[in-house]
Amino acid sequence: MIKRILLGLIAVIIVIIGIVAFNTVTNNAEMTAEDPVSLSPIDTAAAAHRLSSAIKLKTISTSISDPPAADEFAALHALINQFFPLVAANLKREVVGDHSLLYTWQGSDQSLLPAMLLAHMDVVPVEPGTEDDWTYEAFSGAIEENAIWGRGALDDKFSVFAILEAAELQLAAGFSPKRTLYFAFGHDEELGGGRGAAKISALLESRGIQLAFTLDEGMVIVDGIMPGVEEPIAFIALAEKGYLTLKLTANAEGGHSSLPPRKTAIGKIARAVNRLEENRFPAALQSPASDMFDTLAPHMALPLKSIISNRWLLDPILISELGKGGATNAMVRTTTAVTIVEGGTKDNVLPTEAIAIVNFRLLPGTTIDDVVQHVKSVIDDPDISIDIKQGNEPSPISDPSAVGYKLIEKTIQQVFPDVLISPGLMLAGSDSKNYVNIADNSYRFIPLRFGKEDLSRIHGTNERILIDNYGEVIQFYRQLMTNVGG
Ligand SMILES: [Zn+2]
Repeated sequence: MIKRILLGLIAVIIVIIGIVAFNTVTNNAEMTAEDPVSLSPIDTAAAAHRLSSAIKLKTISTSISDPPAADEFAALHALINQFFPLVAANLKREVVGDHSLLYTWQGSDQSLLPAMLLAHMDVVPVEPGTEDDWTYEAFSGAIEENAIWGRGALDDKFSVFAILEAAELQLAAGFSPKRTLYFAFGHDEELGGGRGAAKISALLESRGIQLAFTLDEGMVIVDGIMPGVEEPIAFIALAEKGYLTLKLTANAEGGHSSLPPRKTAIGKIARAVNRLEENRFPAALQSPASDMFDTLAPHMALPLKSIISNRWLLDPILISELGKGGATNAMVRTTTAVTIVEGGTKDNVLPTEAIAIVNFRLLPGTTIDDVVQHVKSVIDDPDISIDIKQGNEPSPISDPSAVGYKLIEKTIQQVFPDVLISPGLMLAGSDSKNYVNIADNSYRFIPLRFGKEDLSRIHGTNERILIDNYGEVIQFYRQLMTNVGG
């Protein structure tokens, strides 16, 4: 009897191993390749100088309560008009929300839904105390070491200029689009886009305009970052995570510290913070992160290829491994980050109040209400009040089989024949969220080439773009205009 059970078990194991091996071996890539195009060379040195001039302007977004840097934006607008005369002469230009720009490149075929390219003109400040860590000053626009240095070189002023460079080249070559193209350049993306992108979106909606798709900053071409994949990968983000900041407040009796109660306000907040960190949101591998793994599995080395090719069996192992990393963890769960704690002012005085600020990034499908309910039940303390400080829901998930995705994918294949292409999930936020009312599909991708050391440059020290890569970005937009507008 035991022998028979044992034999049966062995048979089951052999069958499972067989299925796993079969799924691994037969999981091959089936992407249709586009032929690479040879684009006429461009004067990247001149383009680099124009971008350098733009980086020198301090179009900084500091906080929602501060007014925008009006003079700096006015100077940037003037620079754009000066550098791109064909764009100025041929495209309709509107200033929206005081400093944001909307360009309309009228297409000849009204039956095609328009497409929109997004970028933002504002930049984040340099973190006080880190100014001297920069190799070249943050607003120098220095052109050194084959790169252009400064705030906005990666996020996202370079993209504003690359789009305009591409349009200027296309106009000079006599191109005129069949499909109407919009360029929307916000001035407060780093503050959520409420004064810029949201107003452009409302303006277009009031005109009854519906877009085929938008393309914005978001993901890039990564090299050597994705474990198990040797080739560079271009990630086109189909969605961005939601954003929520909660303020937790604990109140207590004040008084002299020689007569402390059993639980102080600070003790209550500390307990709440601890409970949140010990009770993370559950991990789940769902679209678009799952689309990414499904797309890349055929290109992965063993054992990753086997694991991802057999998610029917091995999903728990995969999710638990992903949950351990920083970026991969953020792909599979709504994250919790305690960013500010305050309470107490004097050695011998009991504070009457202590607060904690907690920032959450929500997976698509999780709502702000879900997070608040989770926090309430985890903290489970009537002495802690929970208030929403700021929040926006995660974006909808765009369709990777819609025309916009296909056109972006085709353009990447034509300009970057050496890279793999995969859908992805943007972990941070972008202006795209402001356009959901007029666009069913929003994609987030710029062909920046990123290695491991480049991630920290965004919003960090030594932000810079290699001049060759800047040239590639311009060529990408150029070919995209041909594909989308043609
Ligand atoms: Zn940005």
